[in-house]
Amino acid sequence: LAEFECNTTGGIWNELLVLARQPGVVNLGQGFPDYDGSMAARAAAAETMTDPSKTALNQYSLPPGLKSLQSAVSTYYNKCYGLQEGATNRAIGPENVLVTVGATEGLYISLKALAGPGDEVLIFNPGFPWYLSTARMVGATPVLVELAGPDFAPDLDKLEKAITPKTKVLLINTPHNPCGHCYTKEELEGFARLALKYNLFVISDEVYENVTFGEARHLRIADEQGMFERTVTLCSASKLFSLTGWRVGWALSTPELLRGLAVYHCNTSYCAPSPLQHGLAVALGEEDGSFEGIPQLVEGNAELLGNALTEKGFLVTRPQGGHFLVADTTPLGFKGLECAKFLLTHAKVGVVPGVIFYFPDSTGIDPDRPLLRFAICKRRDTIEEAVRRIREMD
Ligand code: PMP
Ligand code: GLN
Repeated sequence: LAEFECNTTGGIWNELLVLARQPGVVNLGQGFPDYDGSMAARAAAAETMTDPSKTALNQYSLPPGLKSLQSAVSTYYNKCYGLQEGATNRAIGPENVLVTVGATEGLYISLKALAGPGDEVLIFNPGFPWYLSTARMVGATPVLVELAGPDFAPDLDKLEKAITPKTKVLLINTPHNPCGHCYTKEELEGFARLALKYNLFVISDEVYENVTFGEARHLRIADEQGMFERTVTLCSASKLFSLTGWRVGWALSTPELLRGLAVYHCNTSYCAPSPLQHGLAVALGEEDGSFEGIPQLVEGNAELLGNALTEKGFLVTRPQGGHFLVADTTPLGFKGLECAKFLLTHAKVGVVPGVIFYFPDSTGIDPDRPLLRFAICKRRDTIEEAVRRIREMD
């Protein structure tokens, strides 16, 4: 079990998150909002529990999801991304939506369906900690491809060199956790070229799709020529509606690919919680794309915290989107974990060190690289308090 344990109760992730949740600590560790999740979703979900005409919504949904949520998801994506029948960025329907128990389950069932023993999965390093352990859990071999700072953009040549006859899946993430990079059109075209040339499936983790900053726009690999048929896109209500505890997400793909995912979904969780699916169907139907101003809030947080950390001597990577900001501690003479512990003790600010999101690779490079991740999906006063404490720190 030890090799899968890094993200679970036995690992350093949990140890640090428990410390960051202590009273008096400004917790910029685990990525969860401290502002309220969608009121439209919560109110509609609550009705299923109190309105006698809606009690049936407290029973199982069909495994692929409540019909109303599958429809609301397809309508939302078609509208939000201008997906059209017959175009490269083709329109999707309810049959292209599999409702999952968060993107975490989406990731597991996608990898389980698309890769197994003997197959290699390309994973960028650093990345979301679950990628490595989940790839291993399905018996596949993770192959790490380094992302280099300060911008952490993917290097397509390096990626191509890592492809072998055993490569089955390319796992990508935009906006990126932890580095905040949003893939450009050219990068997506590069991924698509490689996927088509080497016959790869792509799992595209797009859980932060609605949070982009400045000129950056969220672009979907599934909308590239020839990619819809070989892509599973992972999305999440955790991020879209700030409801991380609800454990609802969705995978978008062809009915053929989703059939494989559904086998594992059906046999593990069967369906996502029906009342919450209903709440999300209502909220998605009402969403005008502004997401209650959360993307602007997070962008402002990035600016505020980024400036304070720069003043303090950190090398800050300005994120283009997502819920995080990373800062290099090299100029301060600290390793990641050491600096995270220092911030916790001296400023009472909880952060995540590089050792969590840098996967140990075969080159023997120390995974405890001098990088820290700060969660910026927080209220403005939370970030202001963190900034005040960091500024005052000796
Ligand atoms: N992918 C990324 C990049 C994440 O940061 C997270 C964490 N929320 C997930 C997937 C899992 O999300 P969920 O809460 O929907 O399981
Ligand atoms: N996505 C969040 C993060 O990266 C939470 C992950 C988790 O704890 N499952 O911090």
